[in-house]
Amino acid sequence: MDRKRLFEIGKVLYQSNLPFRVRLFNVLASLGCIISLCNGVFSYLNNGDKRILIINAGIAVLSLMLLFYAYYRKKYQRCYFITIVVIFMILFPFMFFKSGGYKGGMPSFYIFGVLFTVFMLEGWLMFFSVLLELVIYIATMGIAYYYPVCVSWFHSEKEIVADVLTGVVVASVSLGAAMYFHFRIYRKQQIFLTQAREEAMEANQAKSIFLANMSHEIRTPINVMLGMNEMILRESASKEIVQYAESVEKAGRYLLSLINNILDITRIESGKLDITEEKFELRQLIQEIWMIGTKQAEAKKIDFVIEAEEELPKYLTGDVLHTKQVILNLISNAVKYTEEGRVTLEINASGDQIIFSVKDTGIGIRKEDMDTLFDMFTRVDMKRHRNIEGSGLGLTIAKELCEQMGGQIYAESIYGKGSRFTVCLPLKSTGEEKIGKWNFEESKKVSEDRKRFFAPKAKVLIVDDSQQNLQVLASLLQRTSMQLDKAGSGLECIEKVRSKKYHLIFLDYMMPEMDGMETFHKLREEENGQEVPIIAITADVSTGIRQKFLSEGFADYLSKPVMWDRLEEILLQFIPANLISREKDAREEWKIEEKQILELKQKMKQWDIELSEGLRLLSGSISQYRRLAELFVEYYVPNKEQLIQSFERLQQTQNEIKNMTGLLHTLKSNARAIGAIELYELSFTMEKKGKLQDVNYINKAIPLLFFEWERVVQGICFFIKYTEPFLLKNSAKDSPKQAEGDGCNEGFEKKYKEAKKKLLCAIGRYQGKYAEEQIEILLSLEKDADQRKQLEKIQKSVRNLEFDEAEQLMEEWEKGYD
Ligand code: ADP
Repeated sequence: MDRKRLFEIGKVLYQSNLPFRVRLFNVLASLGCIISLCNGVFSYLNNGDKRILIINAGIAVLSLMLLFYAYYRKKYQRCYFITIVVIFMILFPFMFFKSGGYKGGMPSFYIFGVLFTVFMLEGWLMFFSVLLELVIYIATMGIAYYYPVCVSWFHSEKEIVADVLTGVVVASVSLGAAMYFHFRIYRKQQIFLTQAREEAMEANQAKSIFLANMSHEIRTPINVMLGMNEMILRESASKEIVQYAESVEKAGRYLLSLINNILDITRIESGKLDITEEKFELRQLIQEIWMIGTKQAEAKKIDFVIEAEEELPKYLTGDVLHTKQVILNLISNAVKYTEEGRVTLEINASGDQIIFSVKDTGIGIRKEDMDTLFDMFTRVDMKRHRNIEGSGLGLTIAKELCEQMGGQIYAESIYGKGSRFTVCLPLKSTGEEKIGKWNFEESKKVSEDRKRFFAPKAKVLIVDDSQQNLQVLASLLQRTSMQLDKAGSGLECIEKVRSKKYHLIFLDYMMPEMDGMETFHKLREEENGQEVPIIAITADVSTGIRQKFLSEGFADYLSKPVMWDRLEEILLQFIPANLISREKDAREEWKIEEKQILELKQKMKQWDIELSEGLRLLSGSISQYRRLAELFVEYYVPNKEQLIQSFERLQQTQNEIKNMTGLLHTLKSNARAIGAIELYELSFTMEKKGKLQDVNYINKAIPLLFFEWERVVQGICFFIKYTEPFLLKNSAKDSPKQAEGDGCNEGFEKKYKEAKKKLLCAIGRYQGKYAEEQIEILLSLEKDADQRKQLEKIQKSVRNLEFDEAEQLMEEWEKGYD
């Protein structure tokens, strides 16, 4: 056989794509063959025993035969077994007696035999064979000890040492080779598995994005369909058509909830679910649940009651959104599976946990179904539930959410009598205040009677690198009439503090160049900055963040998006009391009815906006919300432009990821502030991926982000248009005119230009009243008949709330005028 042929045989027997055991067997059988030959020759030279030489030669031939038989017939298990029986159980003991018993090298071979068996066989066969080998080996030792005549002992110490040495060397070389081989394959497999896992994860991510994308795509037409259907429901006089439309509405709503559930599951499965921690008011959560639960129960003519313990903490910290989702899910199930009686939500505190328990007097659940209740796509007792719609996803989502929040959920039920679902969540109590007696009517009154305060002499500085964030905070603070200064960077903040003494500073934590922490420490070195309370603003809601800021010396911290209640609390705590005057709300809120707000809430869901979430952050103030909404639309184009540019740069350099992450960070809190939940979650996830330098994810997800963002802007524009008539009734104080300052006393040219600029801006922001004011100014200044005509056309469009048309007319006018 030439070298080439040998090399080919080697390649076939030891190629890397063979299974581990086959390769190991091939290696050991080849080694066994060589070693047996060497061993035989060596033993023969050592003690001149021909029999040992013949046996060893036999073993070598047998090994070779097994090697080729296994290769050609692919009967590996059989070959392993033959090897073990013939060589380890028969030939090894025979050789033991023939070559020095326990005073020779065979005990080392025994160890080799046992280990080889462990490597090559599986399950009970392996255990059985190993046991049998051990019994045989121990028996041979015993026989050799008690009946030494059975053993051909070596005659000299030299022979013993030589044989023991041979045994040790051969056994350790074979075992060493096997181990080395095993670990090499193991390492290779580990690398392969890691790669495969990464690839699978990428594919899974792509699948999730695709699924999320598809669900969005499906959701949009369903929402349009539902919107149109609502028009039919409202306007149709035919009873029959209304009935059809009601069926469409029911099916559409069901489809929508199904898609939302699938989106939730996708999010949970892909680990994209984010649990946040924020301070919230329990009473407000209860109120929202009460409103929704009552509506659902009324539709089924059953009662809905909330029993909340008086000793519950007033403020809690935790993920309020997901808590609400879980409880509402349980309530809607309870209503769904109850035909008469009542659904009760009990809320109690126990140790560090808040316990929500939803009890119903419904159909109950059979004992045998209790174990599978929370499994995905599982609907139990289908015979009885045939007419009840459901996907079997609700409880799975509830369970996952609870577990991710560090809580638990469990169910108890008596079949035919009712069920109780209990959720225990570790919502931390914040502060000593208690919730007290809860009564819906009463709590509604309290929020309506809400007192407000003014502090016109208080000097406050807000620092943020984002203009939009500065404006948002400024517009929130505007209702207190404070003296506000803004700084766009840490440096500017320090300059401002050098020249003025403030009562309070709000400092953004994440800023480029000089971040919040550095600015804070520099401020403390300034004469005017030593005493002033400084509040950190951050979108980071991770646990322990408050402690971190407090230990650095900050007075407190405010999480983004800023909640009015929390802001108010901080202002009242840190602004000197003598600067605060409390009086009843002079500027009343808009005259917008609860019914209309409900309708708005419903409508805005079409664009994935949870108005109630946005309002919650602003203590229900719809006018505040409108200010934020206007800013969101105003900054849409520049913010999007920034993100596009950053995205383009990212394709060239990975270093851009930091900037991109910063932009996503800002978008995240702005989206949250207006209740654009989908946009918030997407930007949040992208921000996190950005921090992990996952450019691939960003590249794939960015089209979805733009798509969602644009939809949100559409929704916000709808809101602005819808609320315009209510704004007209509002007092002039709230108009942005004041915020932007007026330039009445300046020259004609300047006045004209300014009014025009403001008009353009007002049309862009759908501010009818303000736009009309500017048109009046322009009409009073304009003498040219054509120009006046154009202005009147614009005025007409604005009065008809046709802002897009007004914008077009403005463009035409601009062209003609310039
Ligand atoms: P579904 O969309 O079918 O309601 P869920 O995951 O929310 O899916 O619930 C799973 C199953 O658990 C339901 O199909 C129903 O059989 C049972 N179930 C859930 N809540 C109740 C309840 N309050 N009373 C009786 N059965 C319930």
